[in-house]
Amino acid sequence: MAARRLDGKAMAEARRSEIARRAGDVAHRRGTAPRLVVVLATQDEAALTYAQAKERLGGKIGVRVDVARPAVASTDELVAAVQDLGADPSVDGILIATPLSRGFEARKVQNAVPVEKDVDGAAEASLGKLLTGQPGFVPATAEAVIALLEGHGVAIDGRHAVVVGRSLTVGRPLAQLLLTQGATVTTCHSRTSDLAVHTLRADVLCVAAGRPRLVTGAMVRPGAVVVDVGTTVVDEVLTGDVDYPGVAAVAEAVSPVPGGVGPLTSVLLLEHVVRAAEAALR
Ligand code: NAP
Repeated sequence: MAARRLDGKAMAEARRSEIARRAGDVAHRRGTAPRLVVVLATQDEAALTYAQAKERLGGKIGVRVDVARPAVASTDELVAAVQDLGADPSVDGILIATPLSRGFEARKVQNAVPVEKDVDGAAEASLGKLLTGQPGFVPATAEAVIALLEGHGVAIDGRHAVVVGRSLTVGRPLAQLLLTQGATVTTCHSRTSDLAVHTLRADVLCVAAGRPRLVTGAMVRPGAVVVDVGTTVVDEVLTGDVDYPGVAAVAEAVSPVPGGVGPLTSVLLLEHVVRAAEAALR
């Protein structure tokens, strides 16, 4: 039987109207829409494309998204610019687009975002809250994976989840969320010897390595659920970390690229901006 398709696009579209309603409520109460500022201190083309996509989505949902390109030459100047945005009451959320241009220290810049405006959960203060189980903003991509699983009725509690990738943006926060939900979690990375030994033991396999088609059907246990986070442009085509046809032949369910984790991530990030604006109103 063909694997179920974990459709993040449909889920994202279904969530949009509720987020738009909440954004409209904020705008009605205070006279201005919830506002995200994307700080673009990078020449990376993908970062620009993502920022523009957020602007477009924000326009549809009723969240104002501004792309700021601070004229700065050092980490300290960029930190000061981010602190100014943090102190600006008209700004609800701040996203530091990565990778930063060479010479900027990303960790210092991300930590300059106040925790209540850190809508992608990138600052150490937010990551600490995630680790210690306190409320706060969770990195949107990791949250999107959990939402995708929950939205398709995939059980996490008591199951063996394998995460491929240990970045602070995706792999580690995702492993932490899965752990919190009761999974037994294995985290793999580039130093893992014999990746397939681990992936074959997964009930739920989440791949966030940025290596196109790294995971093949032979690396997946029959009946497993596979979530593909990877997005790499190969010959102008957005390509995941999972060989979809091969894996779909053995798995119970697989998320596609595009149309899986990506659309949900974008919507959840803007939902975080609305939540930050709501909290500021209280
Ligand atoms: P990253 O910072 O480059 O991290 C990649 C991780 O994968 C690292 O931990 C690395 O291990 C591990 N890895 C690399 N090659 C591997 C291999 N052959 N076997 C096992 N592990 C391997 O990337 P990221 O920011 O986490 O992003 C991962 C992917 O998700 C990228 O394709 C990115 O574009 C995509 N992404 C998608 C969304 C979305 O919304 N859909 C959002 C964010 C990111 P080491 O730690 O040992 O180097």
